[in-house]
Parts: sequence; structure tokens; C-alpha cells
Amino acid sequence: MNSILHQDLNDFENILEKAKQQGIDFLNNLENIPTSTTYKIDPKRSLNETGLGSVEALKEFNQRLAPLMVSSPGPRYWGFVTGGSTPASIAGDWLAAVYDQNPQGVNGQGGTAALIEFETINLLLQLLDLPDTFLGGFVTGATMSNFTSLGVARQWFGAQFGKDFAKNGISEKINILTATPHSSSVKSLSMLGIGSHNFTLVKTIEGNREAVDIQDLEKNIQALNGKPFILISSAGTVNTADFDDFNAISKLREKYKFWWHIDGAFGGFAAVSEKYKHLIEGWEGADSITIDCHKWLNVPYESAFYLINKEHINLQIETFQNSNAPYLGNALENFNYLNFLPENSRRLRALPVWFSLVAYGKEGFCDLIEKSTSLALHFGNALIEQDSFELLAPIRLNNVCFTLKGDHNQEKVSSFLTALNDRGNVFMTPTVYQNRKGIRASFVNWRTAENDIKIVIEEMKETLLDLEI
Ligand SMILES: *Cc1c(COP(=O)(O)O)cnc(C)c1O
Repeated sequence: MNSILHQDLNDFENILEKAKQQGIDFLNNLENIPTSTTYKIDPKRSLNETGLGSVEALKEFNQRLAPLMVSSPGPRYWGFVTGGSTPASIAGDWLAAVYDQNPQGVNGQGGTAALIEFETINLLLQLLDLPDTFLGGFVTGATMSNFTSLGVARQWFGAQFGKDFAKNGISEKINILTATPHSSSVKSLSMLGIGSHNFTLVKTIEGNREAVDIQDLEKNIQALNGKPFILISSAGTVNTADFDDFNAISKLREKYKFWWHIDGAFGGFAAVSEKYKHLIEGWEGADSITIDCHKWLNVPYESAFYLINKEHINLQIETFQNSNAPYLGNALENFNYLNFLPENSRRLRALPVWFSLVAYGKEGFCDLIEKSTSLALHFGNALIEQDSFELLAPIRLNNVCFTLKGDHNQEKVSSFLTALNDRGNVFMTPTVYQNRKGIRASFVNWRTAENDIKIVIEEMKETLLDLEI
């Protein structure tokens, strides 16, 4: 063993102790750490011939790299749709690194950590009140979950023509219908060789909605003359958290043949609260569902799962089977995750989720979801009270989509947001909604409280004054 590695091995406890203390210092100070930074490094450090050892590496990290860290797990990081790690999720994530398992098989040879993934998926089905007709697995994010689901949908489409696209490539035009797809679904179409332009945009419901217009959907289906298609539907659009009508889509299933995918990256968690459950009513009839855990479940990044109806298990294997590795055996008899999803090696992503679900239970997450939605309403009301802002859409769940009041202020929206974000006390993201420039604030973080809204409103007022808007 290399001598520096050996020295680190003997010093393991001290190294972890220091890393732990550093973590605690960061987390205890989140309120004061800015949400943006202009600090930069020249990322061209030359690699040292002799290693420094972990303790010295930590020192260098603190000097040069730590200032790059913004308060992304903090209470006023409202951009994108990001949660922040909870204590249980961090404990689970650290232990996932410590145990360093590759959850693949369940039959004993080489480990059975995949059973933890099975159990975690089962706990998630209970949290979301979904039946165990779904087989699920963990991937890095909702993008990969959409990719995985649509990959199996692509295989299903070929099977309708007696074709095996996974083996022989795509030989038919694949029909895709969708109203407000997330950019990651469109990207998945590109990665899957279907083509990012190859979908038909169905109308959304009239008025201030992003949900699919069911009549227009049916019109588009009829135009396909009985040909199969893939429907990409939304449980929570990013701008306005709108939901397609899943009961109505379920009815269409009785008449037409299609693969039904739901992107519920964050909106799927509506299922956890009796108040919002109606939004996802009927979703259990889908063929595949995407859900992110690094959003509303508040676990560290790189955590999402897909759910695919077990009736499609053979199509899923056809899509992802590692067919030429002899040690893998029959994919159905000898279950192994690497025959069911894109990656072969994965970390034990289920563990932070398992810890979170066991630590906080259904009630913990129900409270978190309801708290986030009430904070969104609270922020929306506080905005309306200011004369300078208007909502671009009603607040349906946890996202607030707004802009500077009046069309004459449209060209000032982006300079306002840049100035606000530069102050470092809140972070929101720019958006365009119904051809108007807007700003999006998303409430998902477990730490966010009423007082944060007060702070942000003050920040916004001062930014307006500074810019003389
Ligand atoms: C965030 C999000 C995605 C992409 O998720 P990643 O985890 O960033 O890959 C997809 N769909 C929806 C609706 C989202 O909100």
C-alpha cells in the first residue's frame, strides 16, 4: 500500500471526525452563507507528484474550494425545484459511501443490497399510495427516470409492429403526444434516437393552464387512425405545477392503445397529502411514472426513481439487458438491476431515502408538503400586496410564477432578478410563461419558514429601490 494511503488508513477516525465537524459548521451556518457567489477559481491546479493526505487535502479544499459552496441546501434557495438534505438523509448518504455497495442482484452472490432498494421502493409506493403493480429502481435524477421510462415505451411501440427496436434499431415513426413536456423528456427523446422534434404538441386547457386539453388530445389521437402512440403527461409542470386530468386519460385508455408516462418529478408528492391527493387521482393506471427524491423528499442530489408497470417486465429487460455478459444469467429468474435500467454500477442510492422515510414517516412528509404549499401561498399573497409584482399563474401547489407588474417592465425582469440574486440572500430562476418573462420561486426545502418570506420581500423591495423600478 502506498505510504500516504497507509497513513490515511491509520488516521481514518480523525479524517472522518474533521469532515463531520466541517459538515456541521456548514449546516449550522446555512442562514449566513450566500445563495450566490462571484468567487471563482482557476480550475487548473497541477496534480502533485506526492499526495498530501486527506487532512492536508481538506485544508486546501477549505482555502480554495469551499468558498464556491453556496447555500443550496438552505431555506432561501428557491430556484429550480431543490430540496436540502435532512439529517436522516445525510446519515444515509454518508453510510452509502461507507458501505460502498453496488445494488444489483438479490440472490446472494456478491451481495444483496438490492433488497434494500426493493424495500425502499416499496416504502415509497406506500408513501405515494400506489399499488405494488409497479417495479421501481433508482437513477440519478428525473431526467434519467424519464429516459428509462421512455426507453421501455419505445420498445413497447416497436412491439406493436412486431419489431424489436432495442435489437434492430428504430424502423417506424414513433408517435408521441404531449402538452407541456419538461425539457428533460424532450432531451430523452433526443437521447433515445426518437428525435427531440418528433412529438406532437397537444393544446393546453384554455385560460391560465398548462394541463392537456383532453378534447384536443382525443382529436390528435383520432388523427393517428388507430396507430399506437406514447403519451407524456405531467403531474406538476415546473412553471405553474399544473396536473393533467388522469381520470380523463384513464378513460381514453379504454378506447385507444398507448403507453402512458407521467412525469411527476416533484408533483407526485401531492399524493402524500389529503389536501392535494385529488390532483393525481387516477395516476395508478399509468405504464410508467417518474419521481425525484432530491426535490420534495429532501435527500442529497442524484436520487430519483422510475416506476414501470410489471406487466411490461419483458419489454424492460429487452431494453436494458446486458445480454452478452455470461455471468448474468436469465434476467427474469436471476434478478439483477443492471438488466432493468441504464447503469450497470450504481451507488446505494436507496439508503438516504430509506433513512428519510423510516426517520420521518408519512406524517413527516405530509407536514413538509403542506408547509411548502402554504409558504407558496403566503409568498404569493405577500407579492400581491406589493404594488410592483403580479402573479403569472394561480398558485396550485408549491411553485410561484410571477413577474414585475405591467408590460412596460418586461425588459427589466431579468436585470431585477440578477440584482436580487446577486445580493445573495435568495435565489430564484428566470422563466418564460405564456410569452411573458417571469420569475419562479419553488418551495420544497424543509428548512424554509415564514420569516424567510419576510426577509425575501425586504430584499425585493430594496432591489426595486436600487434599480429605481
Ligand atoms: C426537475 C424536473 C425534471 C428533471 O429532473 P432532474 O432530477 O434535474 O434530472 C423532470 N421533470 C420535472 C417535472 C421536473 O420538475
